[in-house]
Amino acid sequence: MVRRVMLVGEEKQVALTFDDGPWPDTLAVLEVLRQYGVKATFFWVGLHLQKRPEIARQVVAEGHAIGNHTWSHRNTPMTPEEAGAEIERTAVLIQQTTGLITSLFRPPGGRLYNGLADYALQQGYTVVQWSVLSEDTQAQGAATIVDNVLRNVKPGSIVLLHDGGGDRSHTVEALHSILPALQAQGYRFVTVPQLLESGQSTSPKTSSN
Ligand SMILES: [Zn+2]
Repeated sequence: MVRRVMLVGEEKQVALTFDDGPWPDTLAVLEVLRQYGVKATFFWVGLHLQKRPEIARQVVAEGHAIGNHTWSHRNTPMTPEEAGAEIERTAVLIQQTTGLITSLFRPPGGRLYNGLADYALQQGYTVVQWSVLSEDTQAQGAATIVDNVLRNVKPGSIVLLHDGGGDRSHTVEALHSILPALQAQGYRFVTVPQLLESGQSTSPKTSSN
């Protein structure tokens, strides 16, 4: 399980993650990422992927990384069989739609004790949480999201954002401030797999707090 990566090198790296797509707003997110040359990681919900395969293929074509965020976004306790269905059905659709096999899993709501994370770990997934909460689904405006991210980012941070599940115009607007601000501070935006590779390999790779 990873929340933040302890970087080996001097470079300040940060990973932006976008949950709950593919969604119509994903296209606006892709546009601003492209504008600033930023690669990110998208955690998809199977039900949303089923409806928007073209958007999904565009995300992959633009070089972003993909993770599994269950089929239905259910986060109540479930049996191993139910957890398996949530994860495997999504994994199959990701592969059918994009050709990718992902080893990243993020449980809905970050809940670790409802059976999903246990199943994912048994199957060899890396369970990816976050160290910076943008609170973009509650924010009344972009300024709060910008502030939440800029105040809390450190080298090796994983930032939780959302491109799907609702109107994400505040998130898109916030990215127009967050991306140039962090680049001006010397940060480079990387995908979660890239961030994991930049972590310590001899001592514990991740911090859990
Ligand atoms: Zn979610």
